[in-house]
Amino acid sequence: MGHGHSHGVTPQAAPTRGRIRRMTLALGIIAAFLVLEVIVALAVDSLALLADAGHMLTDVAGLSMGLAALVLAHRGSRKPGRTFGWHRAEVLTAMVNAVLLLGVAAWVFYEAIERIGDPPEVPGVALMITAAAGLAANLVAMFLIRGDASGSLAVRGAYLEVLADAVGSVGVLVAGVLLTVFDWTYADVVVGVLISLWVLPRALSLAAASLRILTQASPAHVDVDAVRADLESLPGVDGVHDLHVWTLTTGMDVATAHLTSDDDPNGVLQRARVVLDTHGLSHATVQVENAAVGRRCAREVTW
Ligand SMILES: [Zn+2]
Repeated sequence: MGHGHSHGVTPQAAPTRGRIRRMTLALGIIAAFLVLEVIVALAVDSLALLADAGHMLTDVAGLSMGLAALVLAHRGSRKPGRTFGWHRAEVLTAMVNAVLLLGVAAWVFYEAIERIGDPPEVPGVALMITAAAGLAANLVAMFLIRGDASGSLAVRGAYLEVLADAVGSVGVLVAGVLLTVFDWTYADVVVGVLISLWVLPRALSLAAASLRILTQASPAHVDVDAVRADLESLPGVDGVHDLHVWTLTTGMDVATAHLTSDDDPNGVLQRARVVLDTHGLSHATVQVENAAVGRRCAREVTW
């Protein structure tokens, strides 16, 4: 988000409303196609379609998260008790998405093993038609949100997701051609496994990134030791304790720190803020304590 320290609503309400409309439309198109693809996959018993549908689910989640982020940014205001708003909803969605993707991949692998030696007759024409429709859905969704991708991180993530999924549709299309033209019955199983293998690392990294945020680990791009060392070496600072760095949701890093100092607290605070800013931690809460208070606090505040 990188909104620095301005806590107000950004004055971009009008363009955001258009973005929300286009994202909703893209989400509707992709979700409708997901339902169609699952129905066809089960009807014709196709692993390639099932694997691609699993991937399509990532698009739906990606678009939903992007949409949620836009709506949250658009509203700005929130209930008094929800001091962090609903920003973590994005992380929860990502986690659920990762678990579902891993589940679909496991199912495809299991089915693929079952089908060795006895691949079912999957109609290639049905695969080609469904894949072509999927590709069209992806292209329309891409066209809708392409213009907004440069202005919003949330839309950009969703756009890349849809772009990547077009590859899955092409894979199913190829399987359909191999089945129809060359009558190669294993095409469906092979493409299904290939799509799942391609999705697997991304599902795992999505799960890892979500887990990192949910367990309040410090973001990978922040060197906490360096932050501590820089704060400790500030003029007038005698000690640092209760240093915490965590991520609220993607792109929103938060920090707290207690500094022991007998210098002018305002000067120490200013210098500490500059140091934290250089580490990308502009959303920080810093407390300056004199020697007596600091010693006691460091003893009592142990987590
Ligand atoms: Zn303290």
